[in-house]
Amino acid sequence: MPTTVRLVQPDDLEAVADLTARVYRDEGFSSPDYEPHLRDVASRAQTATVLVAEVDGALAGAVTVATRGGEWAEQSAPGEAVLRMLVVDPAVRGAGTGEALVRSCLEAARTDGCSLLRLSSQEGMASAHRLYERLGFVRTPAFDWSPEPGLQLRTYALPLVPWCGQCGEELTAEGHASCRRAAELDPPRFCASCRRRMVVQVTPTGWTARCVEHGLKSG
Ligand SMILES: [Zn+2]
Ligand SMILES: [Zn+2]
Repeated sequence: MPTTVRLVQPDDLEAVADLTARVYRDEGFSSPDYEPHLRDVASRAQTATVLVAEVDGALAGAVTVATRGGEWAEQSAPGEAVLRMLVVDPAVRGAGTGEALVRSCLEAARTDGCSLLRLSSQEGMASAHRLYERLGFVRTPAFDWSPEPGLQLRTYALPLVPWCGQCGEELTAEGHASCRRAAELDPPRFCASCRRRMVVQVTPTGWTARCVEHGLKSG
């Protein structure tokens, strides 16, 4: 059963909302407050990227990846992507659908020039945690948080580039706290791919930073 992954289309919104709400509810990870957010696929598709997986032409899973900040990119610094609301229909578990969706998120984050992909996950989501760890994500305890009393989230991240653009040192999954703050204001000084010094120009709307080998970034 090969899985194909594609961008969500307007015709899919209702089915993706139903699948997402159903999987979270059946596994005990939903709540009356959270369900409207799970169902709000239209909003996620506007400000982030919603991907759907199909097995034999039928909807089998979905995920959101926020690569440009915004309301779905919780806990991200500029240039970081956030994976949200990964669901796989229990009927196709074991077919590699979850892995195909996460790999597509990594690809989308790289395409949008992100340095790192983060995610938060409920403690009981054991099969998802095994998948993340198998794909190279590492735990980031300093980012673990609680959105509401009694709900504790664990976090993971996977660097997509070798170097920190702010300080030029090796990029870690947690990132350098002071560099993440600096990135809110300052352009990168180093190319995250090759560690060369960037040629930085401040523009009327922000900045551009150019690596002679890897091209232009802007912010
Ligand atoms: Zn740094
Ligand atoms: Zn470079």
